Amino acid sequence: MTDKQPVNTPSGTGPAQSPNSGIRLIVWFLTVFLFSYFWLDMSQTQQRQDLSYTEFKERVRAGDVATVTMQGAQVTGTLHRPEPVTGANQAPVSNRFTTTLPPIDDPQLIPLLEEQGVEVRARAEEGSWWARLLVGLIPWLLIIGLFWYASARMQERMMGGGGAGGLFGFAKSRAKRFERGQSRVTFDDVAGLANAKRDLREISGYLRDPEHYRKLGAKIPRGVLLMGPPGTGKTLLARAVAGEADVPFFSISGSEFIEMFVGVGASRVRDMFESAKKEAPAIIFIDEIDSVGRARGTGLGGGHDEREQTLNQILNEMDGFDPHETVVVLAATNRPDVLDAALMRPGRFDRKVTLDLPDRPAREAILKIHSREVPLAADADLARLAALTVGFSGADLENLVNEAALLAGRTGRNDVDMTLLLEARDKVVLGGLREMVLSDEEKNLVAFHESGHAVAACMLPHADPLDKVTILPRGRALGVTEQIPDVERHNFKQSYLYDRIGVMLGGRGAEKLIFSEVSSGAEEDLKQATNLARHMVTHWGMSDRIGPVAFRRGEEHIFLGREMAQQRDFSEHTAEVIDAEVSRLLKAREEDIAQLLERHRALLEALAKMLLEKETLEADEIQKLVAAHPPAST
Ligand code: ADP
Ligand code: ZN
Repeated sequence: MTDKQPVNTPSGTGPAQSPNSGIRLIVWFLTVFLFSYFWLDMSQTQQRQDLSYTEFKERVRAGDVATVTMQGAQVTGTLHRPEPVTGANQAPVSNRFTTTLPPIDDPQLIPLLEEQGVEVRARAEEGSWWARLLVGLIPWLLIIGLFWYASARMQERMMGGGGAGGLFGFAKSRAKRFERGQSRVTFDDVAGLANAKRDLREISGYLRDPEHYRKLGAKIPRGVLLMGPPGTGKTLLARAVAGEADVPFFSISGSEFIEMFVGVGASRVRDMFESAKKEAPAIIFIDEIDSVGRARGTGLGGGHDEREQTLNQILNEMDGFDPHETVVVLAATNRPDVLDAALMRPGRFDRKVTLDLPDRPAREAILKIHSREVPLAADADLARLAALTVGFSGADLENLVNEAALLAGRTGRNDVDMTLLLEARDKVVLGGLREMVLSDEEKNLVAFHESGHAVAACMLPHADPLDKVTILPRGRALGVTEQIPDVERHNFKQSYLYDRIGVMLGGRGAEKLIFSEVSSGAEEDLKQATNLARHMVTHWGMSDRIGPVAFRRGEEHIFLGREMAQQRDFSEHTAEVIDAEVSRLLKAREEDIAQLLERHRALLEALAKMLLEKETLEADEIQKLVAAHPPAST
């Protein structure tokens, strides 16, 4: 079976880009250019001797000169024999020389050359002065261009585009600023979240008419913490507050600070607050505040220092607000448990608004909002779809509708019907269908494995109802058994959890029963079952041997405002008892399931057979098989 909880990928910003290939190309080109430029130059000066005009004429008279090439005032030529080498360290002297003619024409030169039998060549004067100037300038132009380019890229990376500031502008705020009116979001675009909306309506009212509130002597919170799982609409809601109040919205993500040089984060915070104050009333939104707002004092490392400085700057800015500065800071997190207590002090983020995953009516409303632009077929039943999407976040639902529209586009349809919506839902939950060739033997194994989950789901009294079984590979799984809860659960009973573990172990149980050995295919099942069992023992007091104790371990542990890394608050002995309890619980469940499957072996085999034929079985087909195969009487 597969976990039905959709996995949310955090929507962080990507890592800083590596310098673009353009820069590399320029650097490479420059290197080659400069190298050959200097090398040619050097090799030429090394090999030629520079003669004075007098010396040159003497050599001609002495009959040393073989050839002469004249190019304007510039003369190059060769001697009959090289100059004798005098010192050991002297550079080798070639028989080539250069000299320059005097500005006044020497009428004796040509006759002298002719007399001595020197071969004279004349070349047209090389390009005009400006052409030579240009050639000389090219390397410099290239260097300047490179600097300009690098500085522009740097600025772009640091600021997210736009704005002045030159080479040193990177400390400026990269906060994205949404203009008023431009893609304005209001509370109507936010479905559900009634409590959160009610709390935030006050803020937008204040921003719209601060005078009114001031006259009433009302104190409006400076900071509001939005807490909730990813994709529940924290960013959306913050934008809606700004949209309702019709004020500018500055947004920045805490995780962006982490990738910066020390000191940049703080100056960027300062800058963002400055801009917001200038345009007040305004809203500042800090997404993922937990990445800078974790409990401080965790010590070493530049990264931590940077985080601490950034956090301090945020707190300083908030403390330094004047009463007339109508700027409200909204911050979002899905880890309120790790936040530094200092963030929550009065005058800072002293208001908390919790966003939950949407319930059924809210899911329907969200589906409606996001399918506004999608042509739905008559049979598209959003209410039913809402019932089938327990545990989906707003972002997941948006994704679902989009997937369905994409599927419709791919299959050449011009509307989206229920089948497509359901397919899109499967895709969001389970991952896309995977083309894979399995051998018959593997298929058989997967069919029995999934049937084992299915039988457990049908027969365990507290398990969630079975919806679908398939042996078509999806996402990372070779087969999927899907249950859909009939009610929204906010609280789990022990009996429900036991049966949930039972269903997870059903796949492996069936393999053992039918093939007398198990395969590696149950890895994910075992991981989930173990996690759940451990949680029951260490967090929910569901083990009699351990008793009503909640243990904390690892990262989330905060003690006296300090985050204790890998610190657990129980002894080695207790750790052993916990491990023993977890494995006892799992073993007991394994045994129960083995018995259950044995009793229902006929059903198990019938399910597997039918799965091999049809690949996917829906709830009603499974129920028919269940009715036709009663348990063996023992
Ligand atoms: P968070 O900031 O909590 O991670 P977002 O605000 O970025 O979540 O939500 C992602 C997207 O999901 C939003 O852009 C919106 O389209 C959709 N969404 C989430 N919650 C809702 C909601 N309650 N109503 C309408 N759309 C929602
Ligand atoms: Zn399984």
